[in-house]
Amino acid sequence: MSRYRVLIVGGGTAGIATAARLRRAAVTSIAVLGPSDRHWYQPLWTLVGSGQAWVKETRRIEAKLIPSGVEWIREAATSVDPEAQTVTTDTGSEIGYDYLVMATGLRLDWNGVPGLADSVGHGAVSSNYSYEYAPHTWELIRNMRSGTAIFTQPVGPIKCAGAPQKIAYIASDYWRRQGILDQIRVILVLPGDSMFGVPSWRHALEEIVERYGIEVRLISEMVSLDGASHKATIADHAAGTEEELALGMLHAVPPQRAPEWVAESPLANPASPFGYAEVDKHTLQHRLYPNVFALGDVADLPTSKTGAAVRKQAPVLVANLLVTMRGSGERKSYDGYSSCPFVTARDKMMLAEFDYDLNPAPSFPVIDTTKDRRDMWLLKRYGLPAMYWHGMVKGRV
Ligand SMILES: Cc1cc2nc3c(=O)[nH]c(=O)nc-3n(C[C@H](O)[C@H](O)[C@H](O)COP(=O)(O)OP(=O)(O)OC[C@H]3O[C@@H](n4cnc5c(N)ncnc54)[C@H](O)[C@@H]3O)c2cc1C
Repeated sequence: MSRYRVLIVGGGTAGIATAARLRRAAVTSIAVLGPSDRHWYQPLWTLVGSGQAWVKETRRIEAKLIPSGVEWIREAATSVDPEAQTVTTDTGSEIGYDYLVMATGLRLDWNGVPGLADSVGHGAVSSNYSYEYAPHTWELIRNMRSGTAIFTQPVGPIKCAGAPQKIAYIASDYWRRQGILDQIRVILVLPGDSMFGVPSWRHALEEIVERYGIEVRLISEMVSLDGASHKATIADHAAGTEEELALGMLHAVPPQRAPEWVAESPLANPASPFGYAEVDKHTLQHRLYPNVFALGDVADLPTSKTGAAVRKQAPVLVANLLVTMRGSGERKSYDGYSSCPFVTARDKMMLAEFDYDLNPAPSFPVIDTTKDRRDMWLLKRYGLPAMYWHGMVKGRV
């Protein structure tokens, strides 16, 4: 059985950022366990869906991102035994660890809405939540001339909770520019009782939906879909009613939860229905197993699951892992920072940044980020991807 001082499970945003930072701290005997030979910058998938970026721009070869001195095990984890300090993989091999970092991301549950798995990616149904389907979103938007366009968000925590809304705004802006917005009924289906949890941006978003004439259904979700007959059923949980709507196009976001093997493991939070790994929200250290840490989408943290959050979590996790390994040093604390870049038009964006207490946490305090701006859109389109590929995955920012 191979054994590593640090085993990182998952080679996505969180796994690679952590591996790079550990190498910079001169830690040896690190392995990244992950099956995918491609690495994705998912935030740009929204702009793939709006025809403003190419899928290939969002993709890199994983082998090129694995930091030198780190071993890549190209297998998938299938179980973890935190008592024995081992992870089992899909080839049946066992890998031992002294310290474990869980960075597996989350699971998109396409079967969570009856009819969605069969319909998505063709016909009238798409989703920016997969690189395979995001280009189809743009096909639907630009071919739409009249009828009903529905944009849905599922119940429960999801990655980038702004993404279900962003694509509705960019599509509406496109139809407005084409002079056909008044022929399209745009419906945004949201599970919460308001547009967004943070008041400063909630009001701004209310103005934006009014600007486009979008019909917002709060405390609602899509409960079934018949892609072949172009019909979606929307439940209004406040009123206790269901309505079947004929759709011209649908952008659906699937329900999301932890990978099954994580949810079934002793690392999962037993109190959560979603099965995410239970870590202290400030130290990112597991509550029961101090040699286990988690970050990114798989971590059960009461903040928005984003790459921006990972950027702040990785340095905290690495500092606290080093203190745990060395038995001394200064611990760091994660304040729940996350951000939601609300793209509100084809050339405008509003950057919502906040912490666990939903206090605004602006990176650019001189700018009023509760207003949508062109320079923020340029940051989203060009600045943030550059920062990701040149800084974050190299452990520099
Ligand atoms: C449409 C969309 C828009 C978004 N927009 C934004 C945005 O504007 N701003 C922002 O900050 N964030 C955004 N995000 C969210 C952001 O991409 C994620 O929060 C971020 O990628 C989380 O990083 P992660 O490492 O936890 O998960 P991922 O990056 O998804 O990586 C998980 C990794 O784990 C691997 N893995 C899975 N299962 C196993 C297994 N069993 N064993 C080993 N490895 C495994 C996967 O192959 C993958 O490499 C968006 C996401 C989407 C889908």
